[in-house]
Amino acid sequence: MASAKINIALLGASGSIGQNTLEIISSNTDKFNLFALSVNNNIEKLNLIINKFSPQYIVITNIEAGNNFKNNYSGKTKIIVGKDGLKDISSMNEVDLVVAAIVGFAGLESVITALNFGKTVALANKETLVAAGHLISKIAKEKNSKIIPIDSEHSAIFQCLQGENENSITKIILTASGGPFRNLNANEFKNVSIEDALNHPNWKMGKKVTIDSATMMNKGLEVIEAHWLFNLPKEKIKVLIHPQSIIHSMVEFIDGSVKAQLGVPDMRTPIQYALSYPERLNLQNSQINFSELKELNFSEVDYLKYPLLELAYTALESGGSMPTVMNAANEVAVDKFLKGLVPFTKISDIVSHVMLKHKTIANPTLSEVFEADSWGRESATNN
Ligand code: MG
Repeated sequence: MASAKINIALLGASGSIGQNTLEIISSNTDKFNLFALSVNNNIEKLNLIINKFSPQYIVITNIEAGNNFKNNYSGKTKIIVGKDGLKDISSMNEVDLVVAAIVGFAGLESVITALNFGKTVALANKETLVAAGHLISKIAKEKNSKIIPIDSEHSAIFQCLQGENENSITKIILTASGGPFRNLNANEFKNVSIEDALNHPNWKMGKKVTIDSATMMNKGLEVIEAHWLFNLPKEKIKVLIHPQSIIHSMVEFIDGSVKAQLGVPDMRTPIQYALSYPERLNLQNSQINFSELKELNFSEVDYLKYPLLELAYTALESGGSMPTVMNAANEVAVDKFLKGLVPFTKISDIVSHVMLKHKTIANPTLSEVFEADSWGRESATNN
């Protein structure tokens, strides 16, 4: 039986997740159609995408780059300039599924719009759940919209939970590679360079998430993300170092059974699953070679080495606007580090200082979330 193609709006098409998503779409043109997409200002990649996929709509969020492009473009694709365009393409009638691959708080409004319009959201943007998880899960429930995780750990848990009752979960175990500095001592962290921090041993990802992996804030954000996606208290969300990144995460049940999802570290697997759920599709060169692998190792996290992971648990416990502020401060601190303005260890100092200064607002509205985000950014900038 022939079925209609799934029309996709891809938010953040030029980034790492975006590019992997395009690869999945182009290998499955019988299943998926790239209906709309957004880039910030990467016109070179945009041109390649338009030529290959002929989407109906594109959004260029950067005004200057967008207007320049629009003035010189004579093709059929409709062009929307400015960040409100993200909401436009997330709410269009023709769109079935929105891939949220914009990094950071900047992706929040489009995720909320997509869920409000009943779209399925394939979510790569963990920061949106950290900043406004209570609002996002409420809207998804009210509108009966699905959120399917793209983050590899959460995709693993989502896969392990198929057919299970949430009452039988005793804990979930998020695995962490430990990043590029897992073998350093805490006192060696102050001298690490930007290049060292960007050199992730297992995963090829964008800069923000790679730095977050080196500080393990990435895992902290993922703990909060898991809390909202799977409706679990922080006591049931554990982190375990697993240097090979083969087990992407695990779920332990009341009878002691543990389900794990394994795979080579390749983001195409969780992206493809999010796009085709509940079905699976062929993926070339995706098999684990167990005889070459030989061993899988595990160790506990050293929280003294990774203070941001502990801060994330603290933020989750405080709730309300605290995770929003933590995320905002972290985005600013990572940006400062990437610009060479602060040393690596200052990232956690900045986040911790901003959190200490913040007076938590319980149950913030969307406008209070935006205020908390701005406050967190300003405090971190001046820190
Ligand atoms: Mg992840």
